[in-house]
Amino acid sequence: MADKTLLTPVLTRFWDEPESWTLATYRKYDGYTALPKALGMHPDEVIQLVKDSGLRGRGGAGFPTGMKWGFIPQGDGKPHYLVVNADESEPGTCKDIPLMFANPHELIEGIVIAAYAIRANHAFIYLRGEVVPVLRRLQHAVREAYEAGYLGKNILGSGFDLELVVHAGAGAYICGEETALLDSLEGRRGQPRLRPPFPAIAGLYASPTVVNNVESIASVPAIIRNGVDWFRSMGSEKSPGFTIYSLSGHVTRPGQYEAPLGVTLRELLDLAGGIRAGHRLKFWTPGGSSTPILTEEHLDIPLDYEGVGAAGSMLGTKALQIFDETTCVVRAVLRWTEFYAHESCGKCTPCREGTYWLVQILDRLEHGEGTEADLEKLLDLCDNILGRSFCALGDGATSPITSSIQYFRDEYIAHVEKGGCPFDPMASTLFA
Ligand code: NAD
Ligand code: SF4
Repeated sequence: MADKTLLTPVLTRFWDEPESWTLATYRKYDGYTALPKALGMHPDEVIQLVKDSGLRGRGGAGFPTGMKWGFIPQGDGKPHYLVVNADESEPGTCKDIPLMFANPHELIEGIVIAAYAIRANHAFIYLRGEVVPVLRRLQHAVREAYEAGYLGKNILGSGFDLELVVHAGAGAYICGEETALLDSLEGRRGQPRLRPPFPAIAGLYASPTVVNNVESIASVPAIIRNGVDWFRSMGSEKSPGFTIYSLSGHVTRPGQYEAPLGVTLRELLDLAGGIRAGHRLKFWTPGGSSTPILTEEHLDIPLDYEGVGAAGSMLGTKALQIFDETTCVVRAVLRWTEFYAHESCGKCTPCREGTYWLVQILDRLEHGEGTEADLEKLLDLCDNILGRSFCALGDGATSPITSSIQYFRDEYIAHVEKGGCPFDPMASTLFA
C-alpha cells in the first residue's frame, strides 16, 4: 500500500481544480496572502527569512536562494533585475512547465516578493519557446495580476513598483545556462559568459541580477505564509523543504510527485505504482541525463543534495528517469550524447569537438563495429572534457558515459563480442 502521507502538496495543491490557473482559484487557496506580509517587512528581513528557511535553488545546482539574493549590492545606484529561468530543457525534467501551466500565479507572487527583496523594479520570465500553451497561460496570469494591482505601480499601496515581462526563447538548451540566457534576453546569440563575475554582480545589461529557477521562486510565498519552522519541518537539515520530482520512463504512473527532499526512489516508485508490470529496475537518473546514472543498489538513498552526492551522483533537477531491464544502456547513453552534441553551442573546443567524437564511438559500439579499446577512448575523451569545458553542458555530457561504463562495462563488451546490440529494440518502449 503506497504511503500517500509522504506527499506534501504545496505547489501542486490545487492542480486538479478546473481553471486552476486563474486568479480566482489561486485566491481560494491562500493566493496573494504572502505578498502584503512581505511588503510589510523590510526587504532585508525578507532576504533573511529566505536565508533562514534554507531554501536551495531548484534548477539543479542547489545554491542557497537567500544567499544569492544577499549578493546583490545595495546603494550601488544601478538598476537591479530579477530573471526567472523558465527554460526547462534538461532531459526528463518536467516540473516547471506543468507548474507554470497549472499554477502561474504562485510564480508571479514569488516574483513580486523576490523583486521587492532585492530592490528590482523590472523582472523577466525567460520561458522555453516551444511551450506556447504555457506562454499563453503566463501572459493571461500576468494580465490578471496587473489588473488586480499585484504588478505595476504602487503595488498594494506599498510604494513598490514592478514591471514583469514574459519572454519566449527560441528553443536552445544552452539558453538554460544562466549567462547564455542573459545574452539571449539582451537580443544576442545565447552563449555562456565567463563567470565570475556572477550575474549577482554583472548580469542583465551588466547590472546586478538574480537568476532563479521557477520552482525556487514559486516556493517563496508558502515560506512567507507558513514560516521558516514549517518549511524546515520537511526534508533534512541541509536540504530542507518540499520539492517536485518528475518520474518518467518505465514506471506505471509517470508524472510529478511533490514530496520532501530526502525521500527515496523506492518510496516514490511505491506512490507511482512501481516499475511497469512484470519488469524490474535496471538504472535511473536522479536529476536528468547530466547527472551520473544510478542502479537498483541505490533505491534507498535519500533524494537530497547530500544523499545523492554520497552515492556518486547529483540531485540536479530531480528528474527521475526510470529504465527497466529491457533497455540497452549503450543505446540510452548514445541517445543522450547525441542530444548534447546537437545542443553544444560550439564556443569551446572540448565540448564542441568532444561531444562529436563521443557520438561517433558510442554509435559504432552500439552497432557492433566497436572494439574493447573504444571504452578507454571514451573514458579518455570524457577526462579531457570534464573540467575543461567552458560551462556545465560539456561536463554534463560525460556523466552518463562514465557512470554507465562504471556499472555496465560488461554490457558494452557484450556489444563488441556479439557484433551488435544484444537487446531486442522492440522490447523497450523507450528510444524507439
Ligand atoms: P553553479 O553551481 O555554477 O551556480 C548556481 C547558481 O549560484 C548560479 O545562479 C550562480 O550564479 C550562483 N553562484 C554560484 N557561485 C556564486 C558566487 N560565488 N557568487 C554569486 N553567485 C554564485 O551551477 P550552474 O552552472 O549555474 O548550473 C548547473 C546546474 O544546472 C546543474 O546542476 C544542472 O543540474 C542544472 N541544469 C538544469 C537544467 C534545467 O532544465 N533546469 C538544464 C541543464 C542543467
Ligand atoms: Fe558551449 Fe559546450 Fe563550451 Fe558550454 S561547454 S560553452 S555549451 S561548447
